[in-house]
Amino acid sequence: PPQDLVVVGSINVDLTADVERLPGAGETVGGGRLRRDVGGKGANQAVAASRLGARVRMVGAVGSDADGAWAVETARSAGVDVEGVRTVDAPTGTALIAVDAAGENQIVVCSGANALVEPEGFVVAAGDAVLMQLELPLDVVRAVAARAPGFVVVNAAPARPLPADLVERADLFIVNETEYAAMPELGEAKRVAVTYGASGAAMIAEGAEAARVPAVSTEAISTVGAGDAFSAALTLAILAGMPDDEALRTACAVGAAVVAHPGAQPPLDRLEMYRGTR
Ligand code: ATP
Repeated sequence: PPQDLVVVGSINVDLTADVERLPGAGETVGGGRLRRDVGGKGANQAVAASRLGARVRMVGAVGSDADGAWAVETARSAGVDVEGVRTVDAPTGTALIAVDAAGENQIVVCSGANALVEPEGFVVAAGDAVLMQLELPLDVVRAVAARAPGFVVVNAAPARPLPADLVERADLFIVNETEYAAMPELGEAKRVAVTYGASGAAMIAEGAEAARVPAVSTEAISTVGAGDAFSAALTLAILAGMPDDEALRTACAVGAAVVAHPGAQPPLDRLEMYRGTR
């Protein structure tokens, strides 16, 4: 794509326990198998966009610990420009994830260094598109959106009340159906892409459904990161000028590729490989 994508977002280390079933409140479930992965919606989306062929800069923060160094090196080796990732005085963000045999998950996020990201200190040029999520302080997201001169995409996850200025400024929101239901203020947004897991995705423009596509059917190994890869792919597809239905189909094909893979940052082909996949 002609534009650079600037991802302003979270960087975490994901500690994932694969378990037979998820624990209830106060319950202990044994037999877990542990994995460590670099995650965080920001890092996942930056890495996915880079693997899909975009030129990506990441803005974020990590702690001065081994997890932080590992996360930054992982993004760098995926081709992401990490000059805008600061090292701060807080532990690297950590997500505690449990995934059951059916691929359902439960997640606890400890934001750590992500809470210290500041909206100043980096340049968003006229030709840059910006992709953000809501794992950073909301004021940072608002401030970056307000001063970004170009296309602004907000993956509004996790859900929280959205200020009117952000709803008005963002060119595209991306949410799952639970988040969509939790944020009625999105009814005022220019465009909202809503994901429905195994049932696909839709685009809502000025409050009316403009396109709807089914998912690409696949065996679900782990849905962790599916929404992140979908967000990166949809952003790049829209920036590439694809019409809504083709952009959604392309992003669903990328999401399905992630669901079929155990980690949150699976290998991905360039975006053209998924283009218009049914
Ligand atoms: P995450 O689990 O990463 O938080 P999410 O809740 O943000 O995901 P979903 O709606 O679950 O988002 O999934 C995003 C997209 O990924 C879907 O629109 C779909 O294209 C794809 N996807 C998710 N689950 C499946 C599935 N079981 N089979 C095929 N595609 C899927």
